[in-house]
Amino acid sequence: MTETAPSARQPGVTRQRCARCVLSAPFPNIKFDVEGVCNFCRDEVGARSDDTAIDRGRARVMELFAARKARGATYDAVLCNSGGKDSSYTLKLAVEKYGLTVLSFTLDNGFVAPAARDNIHRIVDALGVDHITVRPALDVFKSVVRAASMLPIYGEQSLTRISAGCNACISLVNTTALRLALEKEIPFILAGFTLGQIPANGIVYRNHYRFLAESREASMSRLRDAVGLEVDRLYGVPDSVIDRAPTYPYNINLLCLESITETQILAEVGKLGWKRPSGLDGCSSNCMLNTFNNYVHERRHGYSPYELELSHLVRKDLMTRSEALEKLADQPLEQLPYLVKSLALSPEDLATLGLSADGQVAG
Ligand SMILES: [Zn+2]
Repeated sequence: MTETAPSARQPGVTRQRCARCVLSAPFPNIKFDVEGVCNFCRDEVGARSDDTAIDRGRARVMELFAARKARGATYDAVLCNSGGKDSSYTLKLAVEKYGLTVLSFTLDNGFVAPAARDNIHRIVDALGVDHITVRPALDVFKSVVRAASMLPIYGEQSLTRISAGCNACISLVNTTALRLALEKEIPFILAGFTLGQIPANGIVYRNHYRFLAESREASMSRLRDAVGLEVDRLYGVPDSVIDRAPTYPYNINLLCLESITETQILAEVGKLGWKRPSGLDGCSSNCMLNTFNNYVHERRHGYSPYELELSHLVRKDLMTRSEALEKLADQPLEQLPYLVKSLALSPEDLATLGLSADGQVAG
């Protein structure tokens, strides 16, 4: 089985892709059988353990929400709201299905599509929730994205699920949400991740901040070397906040508990006024930088950072294989010149990434 779309790393060269899902030959530890089906699709044990994790997650969520105390004037949950369809739908679930009082929070990384910002405002207005936006110092954030894109900052394992640039941003979202939850004594942090984006043990979890900080110290140390000590301001929670917090919030990904197709999600959020922004790649419904991050990932690793997530949806019959392939192929590379200019990449970095001085894909 061969795929007709050329890889970004080797333009014009076709590569093998699983006949059932969309994982391709460069994906780590992949093997194809005689029918061209990958070992991830043949892994029935893994599929069953996912189902068990979902059942366990559902029971735990019901237990935690049932035990929550009356919060009075404060919030039950802070929700990381990217403005994309999944976090918009997660907000709807939190408010309407679970009856939570939610504080919606968006990290503005400077690349939120204007239409996505409009979506955020329409959805929070429709659901009647408070909303805040946090915009970090963009010069530091862009330096982090540059470093993550050009250097081995993050571990290979984490990069099978997410591009380095997205990882830099999501870590910042998670840290900021944790700081907000600790400062405001909010017991739950909600995000709109699906299985495939996160491992099955990520449906409900609780991290002690110091443990979390320890687990990512290796990548933070590399970031400090590349960017400077400012990264600690972005990615750290002050001791004073940690010491004062009576307890740690639970992170919950409610969308993992739903069996819902993308078409159904779009219909549901559409009723609240959500509209698909134009000009974004097929795998993002909010962030312009995603196109650059995808390009870099393909270039460095030879496969798309969305293959794992989309393959999961295909295996669960929540998306067809051809829909997934269409999403992978939908990359508005004509936006790279604007994006690399905004990130202020050096001529050497551009050459390494196979881009011309003005950010066009070379050759
Ligand atoms: Zn497969």
